[in-house]
Amino acid sequence: MKTLVAIGECMVEVAPAGADSYSLGYAGDTFNAAWASRVLLPASHAVRYVTAVGTDWVSDEMVAFMAQAGLDVSAVRRDPVRSVGLYAVRLVEGERSFAYWRSNSAATSLADDPSALALSLQGADIVLFSGITLAILSEAARETLFTALVEARRNGTRIAFDPNHRPRLWPSDTAARDTLTAFCRIVDCVLPSFSDEAALFGDASPSATAARFAELGVSEIVVKNGPDPALCVVDGVSKWIPARPVEHVLDTTGAGDAFNGAYLAGRLEGLDALAAVARGHQVAAVSVQTRGALIPTGSRLAHFIEAC
Ligand code: ADP
Repeated sequence: MKTLVAIGECMVEVAPAGADSYSLGYAGDTFNAAWASRVLLPASHAVRYVTAVGTDWVSDEMVAFMAQAGLDVSAVRRDPVRSVGLYAVRLVEGERSFAYWRSNSAATSLADDPSALALSLQGADIVLFSGITLAILSEAARETLFTALVEARRNGTRIAFDPNHRPRLWPSDTAARDTLTAFCRIVDCVLPSFSDEAALFGDASPSATAARFAELGVSEIVVKNGPDPALCVVDGVSKWIPARPVEHVLDTTGAGDAFNGAYLAGRLEGLDALAAVARGHQVAAVSVQTRGALIPTGSRLAHFIEAC
């Protein structure tokens, strides 16, 4: 049995479900990736989600939803005071926009207990965290996470990171650049999206993005780029891998997360990086053809996989 651990924030999603109605769901970048890994991996492998939630019914329902999906929720921390974050989706002529209520959410306390955090990473073959995970944490909590990741890595865990830059979560671009760069020095694998990197670091091309990460010592780099080919650089060897052509893109929310979940599931199962990127593209293509941030399961997933 192998174990994949994802660390971050899952939020309540309030999304339009009809003319005058909304439905509740759950989403968040690392959670969407964990979900995709769980859907794709056989039950013999474990996928653990590490976060913090409140003690109210909404938090209980979120954790029940995770557990029902087959995720290991044993490391979900309960914050006695705060509850989970929330975002609402608005659809205007097919364009989605988001409003967030997440500052000071329970997830901001996910690294407050250093020994619990270290324990939650124990036995992990791969750990995934993101720039959003870092953005919501205090300086002290980031240091706790940094220490836990370094220790896990020393014990043989591979550390994967999606810088996933969200400007409004950072006090300044400089703060984001400094923190993301510091964490890149302790990771084995980065899964950035070129548009984020170009916006924050001014990279002129995916090659420039990959070169920057290689300079920081990252040995496995996959630069996603929407419908354009992803650039995969492993131990200095570069290869461009085309995305799956999709005729009718319905909703790109969570495509990068689905890619990450599929890529890491593939790596956990022993695929080489290039085959894992192909798997990532295939599952991300399903994601852009379906609504919401979580990939479909069961026969719906099989239907889409067959079609693309
Ligand atoms: P993010 O969602 O994190 O911004 P990207 O936009 O780079 O990430 O997309 C992630 C992956 O989703 C791509 O590598 C590709 O596999 C898939 N994807 C995104 N947009 C499209 C599209 N229009 N057609 C086909 N695949 C897409």
